[in-house]
Amino acid sequence: MKEIVIKSLKDRGVKIKDIAKIAYDLQVPYNPDLTLDECIISVEKVFEKREVQYTILTGIALDKLTEDGVVEEPLSSIIETDEPLYGIDESLAMTIANIYGTIGITSFGYLDKNKVGIMEELDSSKDNVNTFLDDIVAGIASAASARLAHHHRNQEQADIS
Ligand code: MG
Repeated sequence: MKEIVIKSLKDRGVKIKDIAKIAYDLQVPYNPDLTLDECIISVEKVFEKREVQYTILTGIALDKLTEDGVVEEPLSSIIETDEPLYGIDESLAMTIANIYGTIGITSFGYLDKNKVGIMEELDSSKDNVNTFLDDIVAGIASAASARLAHHHRNQEQADIS
């Protein structure tokens, strides 16, 4: 299942490294020794959660169905234009963002406002509907970053005791 999810993302132009880079930028201010490899591992850990896998597949399916013109109006236009008051894309992705606690939600809010890296590319794509995908990327990056934050804190506390 994890491999299917990774392939689905890749088919939509998103690589693990793209998400890891966002997680890195979120977390490096708090942990200057952080490496991109650690972020890649953290993203892969997020992919292991069943609820994350289901959410990613659902979001990508909705983008693709909209792209293929099989979603009925008015929903089709709402998704296609990423109508600002729709919000279901954010709600869905937030379930990924908070798997390691509420700090993931803080990062998600930041990324939702400031689309960075691959999110920016997805958001400005003319060829694809990425209404759900950009939020899903933000959700995964936020969760991976939250996971790193908890690990870093555990490490600090272990060093003290
Ligand atoms: Mg969106």
